[in-house]
Amino acid sequence: MKLYNTMHQRKEEFVPIQPGKVNIYACGPTVYDFFHIGNARPFIVFDVLRRFFEYIGYEVTFVQNFTDVDDKIINRSHEEGRSPQEVAETYIEEYFTDADALGIRRADVHPRDSENMPEIIELISILVDKGHAYQVNGNVYYRVASFEDYGKLSGQSIDDLNCGARIDVNDEKESPLDFALWKRKKEGEPYWDSPWSPGRPGWHIECSAMSRKYLGDTIDIHGGGKDLVFPHHENEIAQSEGACGCTFANYWVHNGYIQIDGAKMSKSLGNFKTIRDISKHYDLEVVRMFMLMAHYRSPIDFNDKLLTAAGSALERMYTVRDQMLFLLDNVDDHEPSEEEKIWVSELANYKEQFIADLKDDLNTADGIATIFELVRDINSHLNESSAKKTIEAAYSLFTELTDVLGLVVKERETNLDDAIEALIAERQEARKNKDFARADEIRDQLTAQGIVLEDTREGVKWKRV
Ligand SMILES: [Zn+2]
Repeated sequence: MKLYNTMHQRKEEFVPIQPGKVNIYACGPTVYDFFHIGNARPFIVFDVLRRFFEYIGYEVTFVQNFTDVDDKIINRSHEEGRSPQEVAETYIEEYFTDADALGIRRADVHPRDSENMPEIIELISILVDKGHAYQVNGNVYYRVASFEDYGKLSGQSIDDLNCGARIDVNDEKESPLDFALWKRKKEGEPYWDSPWSPGRPGWHIECSAMSRKYLGDTIDIHGGGKDLVFPHHENEIAQSEGACGCTFANYWVHNGYIQIDGAKMSKSLGNFKTIRDISKHYDLEVVRMFMLMAHYRSPIDFNDKLLTAAGSALERMYTVRDQMLFLLDNVDDHEPSEEEKIWVSELANYKEQFIADLKDDLNTADGIATIFELVRDINSHLNESSAKKTIEAAYSLFTELTDVLGLVVKERETNLDDAIEALIAERQEARKNKDFARADEIRDQLTAQGIVLEDTREGVKWKRV
């Protein structure tokens, strides 16, 4: 397995800490609202990374946190007149609703700051003892100058960063680069007791503390969106490596950005799309398909055209699956011919190719292309005269591969041929009545399902492509 490691800016062979095992920590959402399309991408990407490692025989431990103590949650709680815990609880539930609809499996652990305060405080204490952190007026800051590797993930030196740093009005800090590990409580904010003051943690420390608690000092893979490289992941490294004196994560995996109709997503542009909003217009499995049709590191543009293309592609996968289910119910149980046996034995090539695609830095775009080669092969080989065993072999391979991507998971009506015939009849009727718009609409709908119509002397014939 090769993964692009942001730390070294290159693809590297994945070598686990413990043979046969892999642990992954992915930064989760701050639960103050529904999550948006930009958040959805890493959730889907790391879900597939996890599924693929399992598929190739690894035992995976996957941790994704919920940030449930944060300024945004506190602000929302003031707006809504309820406690920050209630706000967090609400949006954790909403996270699961949307994540389920996107086919994202639950993590092995979904730790929250509020449930891990002793570990967070312990880690800050270690950093203070080691001189990597200092206390001023009940606030604790990380002393960036004490960690000479600071900037290694984002490829910046402390000097570069100092030049670019804004001079903060906060003169409590020794340097503008220093960041808060613990914040003394302000009026109306939730707080926890600590050796420094009643207060709450800064944002970055939670991931270091929870990763350490659930996965150990050194982990295999740490992931998140590209936007987290600096400062969040840089700060996590400073905290974790400053405390343990060892490597924090062996592989840093980051997904690319999402644009909306060619523009950066931002609240000010009003193009901020939550998954909940999108679900009103698109089936969320189509959104998952859309994400996986691109390589995870490529920037992608979220627009109706690409979503429609993803919808058609997904529909073609469903159509072939349902056609196989239909055949399985309707063919008689005879022995496969020699030709069929050879065809079945060659199906293994698709599996091999699919694994090679995903082993190359999780290239789901190529993996999907391989599944479509399989789809074409199935469409041109299986029919009512195929042996049940032949169909079963193709069906089992198809579902095995689509399961790795978490696609084609819904059950549907399987008697498709009748539905297709009915649509074709409706189209003929529409043409007779000169309702060409409706006739074209039906043709497009069939095309989207991979059905091609041919007008012949004997009437309309159709085939799958
Ligand atoms: Zn994090």
